[in-house]
Amino acid sequence: MNSKPTADQAFVRETNLSLVLRLIHNQSPLSRAQIAVITGLNKSTVSSLVDELIAIGLVHETGINLGGTGRPATLLEINSQIGSIIGVELGVDFISVAITDLLGKILWRKREETDPSDGQKKTIDKTLLIVKEAAAAGKKKNSKILGLGITTPGTVDTKKGTLIFAPNLHWHNVPLVSIFSESTKLKVFVENDANAAAVAEHLFGTARQSQNFIFVFAGVGIGGGLFLNGNLYRGTHGFAGEIGHSPIMAEPSQNVCHCGNRGCWETYANQYSIIQRVQARLEVKRSSIIPQLMAEQNSPLNIALIKQAADAGDKEALDSFSEAGSAMGQGFAGLINIFNPEKVILGGPLSMAGEYLLPAIKETVENHVFSEVNKKVEITLSPFGPDASLIGAVSIVADDILSHPISP
Ligand SMILES: [Zn+2]
Repeated sequence: MNSKPTADQAFVRETNLSLVLRLIHNQSPLSRAQIAVITGLNKSTVSSLVDELIAIGLVHETGINLGGTGRPATLLEINSQIGSIIGVELGVDFISVAITDLLGKILWRKREETDPSDGQKKTIDKTLLIVKEAAAAGKKKNSKILGLGITTPGTVDTKKGTLIFAPNLHWHNVPLVSIFSESTKLKVFVENDANAAAVAEHLFGTARQSQNFIFVFAGVGIGGGLFLNGNLYRGTHGFAGEIGHSPIMAEPSQNVCHCGNRGCWETYANQYSIIQRVQARLEVKRSSIIPQLMAEQNSPLNIALIKQAADAGDKEALDSFSEAGSAMGQGFAGLINIFNPEKVILGGPLSMAGEYLLPAIKETVENHVFSEVNKKVEITLSPFGPDASLIGAVSIVADDILSHPISP
């Protein structure tokens, strides 16, 4: 008799390994008995799956639970030391690279500003150099690199590993996975920044227990990661979630969006719109500490500076954030009406001013959502703040390991 498992048996085995591994990643520490109860698998199957995960090195025993009425049980958790992950965020005007463990804890990081006019080749070469530094830093810690994740604003073909179009970067059809895997010899993944940030929120953040939530990534543009029925929703061609380009109202005076259209939601609520709101106030000579801060810091007007003014109680800064928050809230209300999510999470660079944006967002949502139930939707800030996309880059590698635990 041939004892080699059939393809079907191997598939079922991997699916069950993944199920148990995800559960331990999500809810550890857990005992074998608890895993059996939650998954519905029988105890001997769970024991054998756990033994395999321990042999692979992804899980280890962490102690004994003496509480409860039953027999003391050995508890299991993820072995976060098994290796590390490199995450790369290709921003519009910066590159951020980090090494983390399997639980998303940052072990090393580096950020460099870029000039969008440098173009694609120069920016990618610069990124590869930082990735090499990251890999060397990982080696120093004797840590095996388990994979490399890249996030970028724009539409991404995750199967082909290609960035299709990033309007804010002006990049078209860039085969990022083949470029980076050739150079680093690592397993490489690429994902849209907001989608990846949603995965990060589910694996490491505030949505670990949520099956339906929306991640709003706000910065130069506004992107959305739709997490529906326990999975990232990609749409027919993989381009779902471009919420920032949903047309609100095309007026002749409205800014042209980077996508070429007028009336896109993001042009009312992105970081440039906030800078513009402040500028318009300063032009009519409103009293504000912002010009003084700009002179003292020899800095152009930017969000960090406007936030500083808001911290000092500057009315023009506070009103500008509040106006942008209302514009954001209108978009949030539309999403909540359509998807009826458990929560909406705001992250990305603009979330650094989240405390000034959230009250206006929540008020607008309350006034615009359709049903009473939707008024109770939780609207919250990502714990990763401006690092949402960077941790997102790490999470797409971690997600692949959790799905295919046999060869980490
Ligand atoms: Zn647009």
